[in-house]
Amino acid sequence: PPSPRLVVGNWKMHGLREQSGRLARAVAEGAQSLPDDVRLVLCPPFTQLASVHGIINAEGPATPLHLGAQDCHTTSSGPHTGNISAEMLADLGVRYVILGHSERRQAHGETDFLIRQKVEAAEAAGLIPIVCIGETMQERLEGRTTTVLATQVEGSLTDGFTGILAYEPVWAIGSGTIPPIDELERTLSLLHGLLQSRLKTDDIRVPILYGGSVTPAQAPTIFSIGSLGGVLVGSASLEAESFLRIAEAA
Ligand code: PEP
Repeated sequence: PPSPRLVVGNWKMHGLREQSGRLARAVAEGAQSLPDDVRLVLCPPFTQLASVHGIINAEGPATPLHLGAQDCHTTSSGPHTGNISAEMLADLGVRYVILGHSERRQAHGETDFLIRQKVEAAEAAGLIPIVCIGETMQERLEGRTTTVLATQVEGSLTDGFTGILAYEPVWAIGSGTIPPIDELERTLSLLHGLLQSRLKTDDIRVPILYGGSVTPAQAPTIFSIGSLGGVLVGSASLEAESFLRIAEAA
């Protein structure tokens, strides 16, 4: 399997100070006893980034635990009321940024072109972008999964992309359902091929994560796919024990 495997927790819009502090401390403590080939990333809301950074750092530099954000703006500063730039995130000690999550594509009308501009901004600030792609149930039923993924890989990645790709079938997010494992395996090799043509090289170093209803129970099956770079976890990342059990299966 690709090493290290990444286990990314997307807290979404969850976490007041006390609860997020408790969660981050429990994860940081548990992370100490994980094998070397696993790396955890916590992506709290913007308001908790600084305090979670403090908690992660308190555990020392050897902790396989890093900080991520859930979005960034396309530019580094300017008249953009309410926005946060990649440069501001990097300045806080953030290492990763999730871009193009389906909730942002759907609820905020984010297009592949906008996401690519955000990827450029993240790369310029030295952040590692985690770009989310995935088909909806309707697109899947219409047999359009391959075209949809090809369009997203083509449009939302930069030419020299060195970040992380997260395959998140929209219908699997928050639904309790994951794709059949043989289908997921085929989709991963499809994505590998799409990356080769998008990045014009056979030597693909972009880890591919799976996201959508990853639980401790499903994790061993998901991680049995040898080429999988890791997982992106939503609701199960809000409980330290579940999140750490997923990490143990990586
Ligand atoms: C997500 O939204 O990125 C996600 C994977 O959510 P969940 O694990 O809750 O399905």
